Amino acid sequence: MQTLYWILAFILTFCIMEFMAWFTHKYVMHGFLWSLHKDHHKKDHDSWFERNDAFFIFYAVVSIGFFLLWRYNGLWVGLPIGIGIFAYGLAYFIVHDIFIHQRFKLFRNANNIYAKGVRRAHKMHHKHLGKEKGECFGMLFVPFKYFKK
Ligand SMILES: [Zn+2]
Ligand SMILES: [Zn+2]
Ligand SMILES: [Zn+2]
Repeated sequence: MQTLYWILAFILTFCIMEFMAWFTHKYVMHGFLWSLHKDHHKKDHDSWFERNDAFFIFYAVVSIGFFLLWRYNGLWVGLPIGIGIFAYGLAYFIVHDIFIHQRFKLFRNANNIYAKGVRRAHKMHHKHLGKEKGECFGMLFVPFKYFKK
């Protein structure tokens, strides 16, 4: 039974993280922290790193916080939550930063239905160079219409 709760907590965390990513992107990154996200839409420097990467650091700290709660306060659910946040961050980095934006030259030729849909949806987001009026703020959960050709 404990294993079932563990898996449910992990899956729920992963789904909540997609919501958090969408919410943070729409209301924080395109809101009061636009100064950190701006260089992801319009690169103004030569560094491989973007100021936008600060958001990864933020969620890494949250994830570590849950690990510590599990380790030192005996909060069992801290472990699946911590791993869930980490797994989401990793999936986000692989799909968004590697596959779509090619920060490492990998998966360039991925051509399955999901790869095509997720890339199409995110390219819609990047059509807007400014802070206002964006679309497709989510990442891994792609609206159904982007799977149709
Ligand atoms: Zn954006
Ligand atoms: Zn920058
Ligand atoms: Zn992007």
